Amino acid sequence: MSKVIIIGAGGVGTVVAHKCAQNPDVFNEIVIASRTKSKCDAIAKAIGAPNITTDSVDADSVPQLVELLRRHKPDLVINVALPYQDLTIMDACLECGVNYLDTANYEPKDVAHFEYSWQWAYRERFEKAGLTAILGCGFDPGVSGVFTAYAAKHHFSEMEYLDIVDCNAGDHGKAFATNFNPEINIREITQNGRYYQDGKWVTTGPLEIHAPLNYPNIGARDSYLLYHEELESLVINFPTIKRARFWMTFGQEYLTHLRVIQNIGMARIDEVEYNGVKIVPLQFLKAVLPNPQDLGENYKGETSIGCRIAGKDKDGNPTTYYIYNNCSHEEAYKETGMQAVSYTTGVPAMIGAMMFLTGKWVKPGVHNVEEFDPDPFMEQLNKQGLPWHEVHNCDLEVDKI
Ligand code: NDP
Repeated sequence: MSKVIIIGAGGVGTVVAHKCAQNPDVFNEIVIASRTKSKCDAIAKAIGAPNITTDSVDADSVPQLVELLRRHKPDLVINVALPYQDLTIMDACLECGVNYLDTANYEPKDVAHFEYSWQWAYRERFEKAGLTAILGCGFDPGVSGVFTAYAAKHHFSEMEYLDIVDCNAGDHGKAFATNFNPEINIREITQNGRYYQDGKWVTTGPLEIHAPLNYPNIGARDSYLLYHEELESLVINFPTIKRARFWMTFGQEYLTHLRVIQNIGMARIDEVEYNGVKIVPLQFLKAVLPNPQDLGENYKGETSIGCRIAGKDKDGNPTTYYIYNNCSHEEAYKETGMQAVSYTTGVPAMIGAMMFLTGKWVKPGVHNVEEFDPDPFMEQLNKQGLPWHEVHNCDLEVDKI
């Protein structure tokens, strides 16, 4: 018998709940808990499975989390709340002897900065408690790391150049909207860019480096170099990598809105006083922007996310390799009521949980996804709605940038 608690009832939480419910042989009991219980109830009602219950919790509070975990006694927490809650949830897991999985690394509320050091600092405590923590198990981070581990296991003796490429060629029909939590998304893309080259991190201005890249079934899209968290663990876990970069596509309309939002101070994360009340402009902006969960209905087009890798094959010869998944917004919406960005995050989180509960990814300590065997996870991607494709010895394009 296995029981999971999903914390967070947003776009990603909704997909995780649907996908866990589709696999009742693994997920015998499912609890959805979030700050606003009515959202959990709505998800449970939409799914309509008898093995789902709901609860409320403020995941910023360790005592509340501890009560929640003691009440339900789950085997695993799937944390799909916000990155701010990672450490409180990990603390509560340690206190209650519960395993842990998330999709985004910890970020303090008052500084737009994310890195793994805060969560890696829990390694020894999880190891001593015999508990497994799986970090960054969405698509990117998540599948991007599993794809890289799969490439290393099956196709390369030495990976030298890694470019993770993330294209959303969908159209939701709104002038401006973010595809996941607007506050987290805007904090991420307005930061300096950063990539890894010959053992050092190179910093660029925000969205300074860009180039058109061709995505399968989509065509050319302007792709911007960003810092992304999986680069930090991948260059450690695959030390032959000489250069690692992350690219994401943005349309001109999106970038113009973003520039205005920044120029008028609406991306600020410090408090300002308005009519005697303290507000954080970016949090206020989130309240007036379209809710990412409501984008699905009219979303057309698809996402394409993958890894482009160059290096030496198993025989030591130079080789190139591209592995990717394309996901349709319409299909994702039909299945779960959410768009493809939530879908491509929620499905891997469910698969990571499945890997743990079926004993394939059990390793006490705190681990990034690429530290586990990629094969059973890759097999499930094909079965659970995110099929992947490989191209060998192709033009990766990224070597020219
Ligand atoms: P949403 O904003 O849609 O949902 C977040 C949920 O967390 C909401 O239900 C919210 O509750 C809840 N929540 C927020 N704060 C608390 C709290 N203190 N206590 C309890 N619940 C809380 O976000 P998404 O679903 O779009 O994203 C979820 C996570 O997935 C984020 O961490 C995001 O960074 C990550 N992500 C990862 C990706 C990947 O590929 N690895 C890609 C996309 C997202 P309420 O409704 O009350 O506000």
